[in-house]
Amino acid sequence: MIPQSVLKALNQQIQKEHFSAYYYLSMSAHFQSANLAGFAHWMRKQYEEETSHAMKIFDFIVERGGRVHLEAIEKPEGEFKSPLDIMQLVLEHEKKVTASINAVYELAVKEKDYPTQIMLEWFIKEQVEEERSAEDTLNMLRMIGDAPAGLLMLDRQLASRGS
Ligand code: MG
Repeated sequence: MIPQSVLKALNQQIQKEHFSAYYYLSMSAHFQSANLAGFAHWMRKQYEEETSHAMKIFDFIVERGGRVHLEAIEKPEGEFKSPLDIMQLVLEHEKKVTASINAVYELAVKEKDYPTQIMLEWFIKEQVEEERSAEDTLNMLRMIGDAPAGLLMLDRQLASRGS
């Protein structure tokens, strides 16, 4: 049995992962309209990945005999500025997700819920990667500055993201 407080936090985390997915999908739509198909593709992959995070927690709750309760997903921001601004938003958002995952982990420790701790270790590692990849892209955008050729090159590179 998952302790009640942990179950509640896990259900909230499902909502947060879905919100992340929705947020990135909104960014993907923005990039499509800005003719940056590579950035749009990268954000769409990000959307798919966040959905898979939500489902990982969903399946974990079910496996442990808990009840999944879906919360409302708020409307994401729809208007964005430059790719640099957007990547900054991504990094800030991922830092919030990291803090949220860490808080659930702390709760699982407090409740002596070992299976949840083990499950969340995957997420803790994943968040290191998420922050790293957002920071890498952000650094490239800083180097590119106002050079359109650099932006188009990065766009082409982001178009090749497989998963
Ligand atoms: Mg996630």
